[in-house]
Amino acid sequence: MTGTWLITDARPLGGDPADVLIRDGLITEIGPGLDAPGAQRLDAGGLILLPGLVDLHTHLREPGREDAETVASGTAAAALGGYTTVHAMANTEPAADTAGVVEQVWRLGRQAGRCDVQPVGAVTAGLEGSRLAELGAMADSAARVRVFSDDGRCVHDAVLMRRALEYVRAFGGVIAQHAQEPRLTSGAQVNEGEISGRLGLTGWPAVAEEAIIARDCLLAAHVGSALHVCHVSTAGSVEIIRWAKSKGWQVTAEVTPHHLLLTEALAADYDPVFKVNPPLRTAEDAQALRAGLADGTIDCVATDHAPHPLEDKETEWEVAAFGMTGLETALRVVHETLVEPGLLDWAGVADRMSARPAAIGRLSGHGRVAPGEPASLVLYDPSPREAVDPTSHASKSRNTPFAGMVLPGRVVATFLRGTPTVLDGKLAW
Ligand SMILES: [Zn+2]
Repeated sequence: MTGTWLITDARPLGGDPADVLIRDGLITEIGPGLDAPGAQRLDAGGLILLPGLVDLHTHLREPGREDAETVASGTAAAALGGYTTVHAMANTEPAADTAGVVEQVWRLGRQAGRCDVQPVGAVTAGLEGSRLAELGAMADSAARVRVFSDDGRCVHDAVLMRRALEYVRAFGGVIAQHAQEPRLTSGAQVNEGEISGRLGLTGWPAVAEEAIIARDCLLAAHVGSALHVCHVSTAGSVEIIRWAKSKGWQVTAEVTPHHLLLTEALAADYDPVFKVNPPLRTAEDAQALRAGLADGTIDCVATDHAPHPLEDKETEWEVAAFGMTGLETALRVVHETLVEPGLLDWAGVADRMSARPAAIGRLSGHGRVAPGEPASLVLYDPSPREAVDPTSHASKSRNTPFAGMVLPGRVVATFLRGTPTVLDGKLAW
């Protein structure tokens, strides 16, 4: 299915209709009335054309928890969501803390072939927070790791965090922090506030996130290195990041679709599908996150796709696993929360879901729809409004908090360097 494709009447970044000619994996021409005898044609009338999406935060679970997800199933889910690159988080079993493990994950991604897999390396050995992992060896490996994170856990030791920031500075890397002060969140289950009190569950205070973000912004500034803040969830965090950026410090941040759309009120029925780390917060927090993403304080959307098997989620709230799937619904949630209210246009979506996450991940060849660029693209139909149906999902896990919710839009096709991975809303092979 590689070769020459002519996509007709698409709307690049939501603009005027144009045809797009793809040859040998590259966009070669964009304009009205193109002709290409012998090309495979795709009529994209009414569809929005965006650069292939880039996720900075995906849990693919392989190696070790193939019952929840594999690189193959996770990248199929990614393609269905319009993604052409995902960053695979390091909290696998074993952890991705050596050149050997990150190369294994990278190779599995190439074999699966539906979406590039860029491994994230662990910051500390075994994610145990006591000594640095082999950051240099992972950076020099075939996987060329540039993003390091102990995600799932916070690098809470300030000296280790400082050393990690200093270490990655030499090769232009970035430390992606899961900001969670462990002592302030011991046993925490839901956002601290009225709901936690009513449900009798241990509260998770906003300050546990904000204190770490503030400290790490100061550390990044002190050593002149790059910090990325994972899954920002509170209005106060947005304020701290806005302040750090105003200083010119190398601080970037992401927000998840679920924190943009959902609130702590959903925990009221003790359904663990809404249990996530960091927890769902208040409606005011969600509004601040939307505004922060719109004004660029928050750089990008990242899914924190966190698949879990049924037995780890369909249990009592307090013992259930934290996490939600998200790859297959992210673009629709961003459509609902940012585009529909007029906070972002489609060019803005392309920036927040492709160009900026690619830049933070130090990747080239992503984020632009232009002649000469790799033909990694997504075609999106903005018109339908349908309930989310998890049975259509390719992820091995079903823990989507959006099941049954009516959301706009549908991913129609995804191309990875000129090869369709999704056609007519289904996997192309
Ligand atoms: Zn995390």
